[in-house]
Amino acid sequence: MPYLGLGVYKMTEREEAIQAMVKAIETGYRAIDTAALYHNEEEVGEAIRSSNVSREEIFVTTKVWNSDQGYDETLRAFETSLKKLGLEYLDLYLTHWPVEEKFVDTYRAIERLYEEKLIRVPGVSNHHAHHLEKLFAKANVKPMVNQVELHPYLSQEELRAFCAENEIAVTAWSPLGRGVVLENESIKAIAKEAGKTAAQVVLRWHYQHDILTIPKSVTPSRIEENSQIFDFELSAEQMTRLDQVNKNQRFGQNPDNFSFDF
Ligand code: NAD
Repeated sequence: MPYLGLGVYKMTEREEAIQAMVKAIETGYRAIDTAALYHNEEEVGEAIRSSNVSREEIFVTTKVWNSDQGYDETLRAFETSLKKLGLEYLDLYLTHWPVEEKFVDTYRAIERLYEEKLIRVPGVSNHHAHHLEKLFAKANVKPMVNQVELHPYLSQEELRAFCAENEIAVTAWSPLGRGVVLENESIKAIAKEAGKTAAQVVLRWHYQHDILTIPKSVTPSRIEENSQIFDFELSAEQMTRLDQVNKNQRFGQNPDNFSFDF
């Protein structure tokens, strides 16, 4: 699974979305993160087909939305997503949020899709350790990915350790803290030292912690900027300073208390 992918939440303007996705693929991104909620699965499929890279080389993620959860409902939602994407299989399918009373059945359906080889990787999103423990009790195959809000203001150390113990890869959503963390003085100082931008430093911090990222941008120069993170290294001291920026601050909802209306 590639470390870097393009997040495509709120890319709803058709031509702009396709252009951004094609630009990302041509820049070297090999993963795209969408969701039924984002209403752009058709555009994702179209961008892959119109790019000069074959489908097999691109890691495509989508998610089952909250109102479609439950075992049979998830199987149906998957079919709809696959049709919209125009793909034969999906690389990663995620439970978008752990809907109480339903998320275990939702994951069991994802597990079935994995067993039927319709998805390459089964996963979840926005799951705390206690949600994952409920899945472990019922599942034959543990989720292989947990996609959660994670950035220097919300470093999720405990959840990362729990996922590492259970061999679950962690993907950061809002890895740039929606752009807000880029204004932080410590991060700006480290960017200056490294001769890189604040966004590149933040994405590199994730990478050195073994966290996958899916930054979002429709701006071609930023799509390129966000991909140029593999040609430098943060020192242990700079990593420690970045770790200290944490303030357990969420920009999104808490998985223990979320509403369906986004
Ligand atoms: P992000 O942290 O990726 O921030 C994106 C914003 O940062 C952009 O809109 C832009 O304003 C700014 N930005 C991007 N690159 C920049 C740069 N180089 N310099 C300065 N500013 C820059 O936040 P996000 O869009 O919330 O999250 C990324 C992706 O994560 C989404 O597109 C989506 O795919 C996924 N996501 C998943 C969930 C979930 O529940 N699983 C929730 C939210 C987002």
